[in-house]
Order: sequence, then structure tokens, then C-alpha cells
Amino acid sequence: MKATVYCLEDHKMEIREAVSVSFPDAEVKFAAYEDLTEGGELLAVDHELVHLLKKDETAGYPSVYVYFKKRLFAVSRADLLEEERETYVKKEDWDSAKDINEVLCDIDFLCKNTVNRSYPDFFQIESTDYCNSKCIMCEHYFTHNKQAEILSMETLEHMRDAIQLSRRINLNGMGEPFISKLVKQQIDLYVGYGNKIVANTNLSVLDDELIERIGKDFEWLAISIDGASKETYESIRIGMSYETLISNLYKLKERVPHVKKIISMVMMRQNVCEMPQMVELAHKAGADQVVFLNLNPNLIIGNAGDVMLHYPKVTEYYSVKALEKGEELGIHVVVANAGGLNRAITFDEIQDELTQMRRIPMWKTKEEEQKMLETAEIVNRYIETHDQEQNTTVPTEVRCSGVCDWLLKNCYTNLHGDISMCCRNLIYRAGNVSKEGEFLSVWNAPLMQKSREIFYSGYVPEACLKCGMIEGGELKYLTVDISPDFYQDTRLKKKQKQELKTLLGE
Ligand code: SF4
Repeated sequence: MKATVYCLEDHKMEIREAVSVSFPDAEVKFAAYEDLTEGGELLAVDHELVHLLKKDETAGYPSVYVYFKKRLFAVSRADLLEEERETYVKKEDWDSAKDINEVLCDIDFLCKNTVNRSYPDFFQIESTDYCNSKCIMCEHYFTHNKQAEILSMETLEHMRDAIQLSRRINLNGMGEPFISKLVKQQIDLYVGYGNKIVANTNLSVLDDELIERIGKDFEWLAISIDGASKETYESIRIGMSYETLISNLYKLKERVPHVKKIISMVMMRQNVCEMPQMVELAHKAGADQVVFLNLNPNLIIGNAGDVMLHYPKVTEYYSVKALEKGEELGIHVVVANAGGLNRAITFDEIQDELTQMRRIPMWKTKEEEQKMLETAEIVNRYIETHDQEQNTTVPTEVRCSGVCDWLLKNCYTNLHGDISMCCRNLIYRAGNVSKEGEFLSVWNAPLMQKSREIFYSGYVPEACLKCGMIEGGELKYLTVDISPDFYQDTRLKKKQKQELKTLLGE
């Protein structure tokens, strides 16, 4: 028998051994990706490379195996693996249960299953939608924590089976996770099942118990800082104290130097000139990385004019300065289009744009804030009656291969237990774990099945148009041929935008 093996160079020896133990007569042939279409009797795929098989590369092989941690798993015997996973769960052997779950995920992907046998390995569970800041680019600027709550232990109980099988828990939703009075207890529960923790925070709340958990249980911590100077920081992040932030940054540097820290800044008119200083601040605070993000404008805030896309030269100039500062200090800086920037751009070249950028006042007056609150009232009343939960989606003309990671192995749930299509498509809801009583039936609810089916058929679902994660190439299991059609709004969004414009008299 001829066994075709598709694996990492480093795994060749061990995978040859595994194949010869299971199939002593097999003649092993290592294949490059391009050779896979030739077909053969048996194919063994390295777990590390499964995500590359987005098309029908395995179709020409009657027997397909996944190689993971020195074992070969038959893709056709997923039923046995489910039993094995169950046995490990009963024995509370979480590591082994998670390993088997990971192989089941590979099988779901290779078989293009619309009903997943695997549970997600990255689970984002909203700790709270309450925030102690009112940042000028965020919904909390006008929502004032109306109806905000924290995740209860009871809701979490309905997700216990999924938490046992996930590897990473993200604490974020719409609020600041560290202000939930239950967050430490919840971290302990996640960690008790072998999860690592990740979170984004404004770092305004940090006590000894939290620092201890960050040091022990966190894989990384992202800290949102939208101004390097006190004046800019406190003007953007209303309600935050610059002194508290700096003191907490240094506490982390001193006490948990081994935990990866990422500083993130949303670039806008008000802070773009502080990009290089932000890199310096991050370096002093012992951070590993600085990420500069683009601002997503908000209709109610009316901040489309703050988006830096209107000032490309200014963005280019300060992005270059931030990159140079990062190179000088040895800290990794992430800016959009880093490879395509004109490194020779001069300060003189950005004068016109700087003047234009400063022509509009940087901050809202009290009257403008009041007007924004009135707009929020109108929009909220509209949304209450028009922003219906979406339970299905349809294919578009945009071609793709594979499936979105959020439908295969990532999952977002809000603090009420509502599972959404992903952290971006919150109104596309699959169901509620508390109401259904268990995780898997919501994870495989009609919306999730339909979305997977559309992706696997080679088309992007309408709900996923304009997705930033597709644009940023952040999805490992999905490749999209981005065409102009991709940048359209969904029909629901188009209709809502039009109606809102009329309502707001624009
Ligand atoms: S493609 Fe984007 S919008 Fe669609 S499910 Fe994935 S992350 Fe969400």
C-alpha cells in the first residue's frame, strides 16, 4: 500500500514511524501541497497543516487520517473519538479530552460538516457590558451603562461542557471585564478546566488578587490606551485617570513581566500625532507589542470626520515614525499597510492635511454632547423596533474556500448566554444556552448550520460582507476572493441606514 503523507518537515520522522506502526506494509511518500490532487490509497495529514486543505484536496483518497501527538486518527471514525472524548471528560482528564476535541475539529473541517462534532477551542464569554469609562469613540459615550449587567454563575453553568473542552477563554464583551465582581471567581472556574485566559482591559482596576491571576493564568493581556499624554488620554477616555493607568502599567511590568502585554490604540484625529510617544510609553511599561487600529465611526457619535482615512499622508507619516521608534527601542509595532509605507515622507509633505485635520474642533462641546444624546434616543427607539435578531443568512456572489474560524472553533456568547455568529455579528444569534439548557444544540442551531453550509459551498454569507477579519486576513480556515461585492452593506443595513437618515433629517 502507498501512504501519502502531508506534513511539516520537522514531523517527517515521527509521522513515518506512526504510519509504519499502523500499516507495516505501507510505502510512505511525502507530498507537497500541489501533489495532493494526484490522489492515492491513503492520506495522512499533519494536524498542523489541516487548515491549508480548504478545497477538496482529500477527495482522491479513500482513507484519510489526521496525525496529532504521535497518533493517527481515522477521519471516518469520528464516532469513536466522540466516545473517547467523553471517557476523558468523565475522568476529568481535561488535557486529553481537549486533544481529542481538537482532532474532531480537524475532522469537521476536512469533512465540511455543517453540524460540528467538536466544541470551540477559543471561547469568548462576556463578563460584563458595564464600563467605567465613556470613551469618545465608543457606545458607552452615550449609553451610560443603561441596563448593564454582569455574567452570573448560573448562566455560566449552562456552558460548563464547552468550557471543559476549550483551551482559551476571552473575558471581553461590551464592557470592562475587570470591574465585574465575579470575574475572579469566573477566571478560577475557567482555569480549573485547563483554560488559559486572555483579555482586553482599560487597566483602571487592578488589585493584588487580579495581578496574581494574570501572572499565573493569562496568556496575554491587551491594554487600551488611546493617548500617550495625560491631556489626550483623559480627553478621549473620559472618566479614566492617567496616573492610575501609569501606576498599574508599572505594577504589571514589575510583578508579571513574563505575561505578554499588547498596547492598543485606536488611531483618530485627536491622537494620531502621539503614535511615536505611545511606542515609547509601551516600551517603558515593558509591553511586547503596540497595535494601532483604525477607528470605526459611529452614526450616533457622528465621528466619521475623525477617521484617519481622510488624512492618508498624516497617517503615513506618523505610522512611519511609530515604526522607526519601535525599531529603535526593539518593540514590535503593528500599523496598517506597514510594507507599503513611504518611509521617506517628510513633515513638510503633511502640512496641508494637518491644517485641514485641525480645522474642525477636536472635542465635542457640552451642547454637541447633548445633541448626541438626543440622537441616541431617536436611534435607540428605532433599533428597539427594527434591529430584529437575525436567525439566518444567504449566500452572496463573493467566492471563498474553507469556513470562518468563528463557525468552526471560536465562539462568542454574551452575558445572557446568547450565542452569536461571531464577536462582530452580534445580532445574528443562534440561540440561548440557558433556554436550550446545553451548549451543543445552540452551537449547531440552524443559523450556524446554514452559515457553515454557505461557506463550504464556496460563497461568503451576506452577514459576513465587509468583515474586518476577512479583510485583515485574520481567519486561518478561510480564504476569500475579495471583490467589489464584498464591500456592500447587507440588505438589512442598507434599509436601516436609509430609514435612519430620514429619521435624523440628513
Ligand atoms: S467571516 Fe467575519 S462576520 Fe462572518 S462569521 Fe466570520 S468573523 Fe463573523
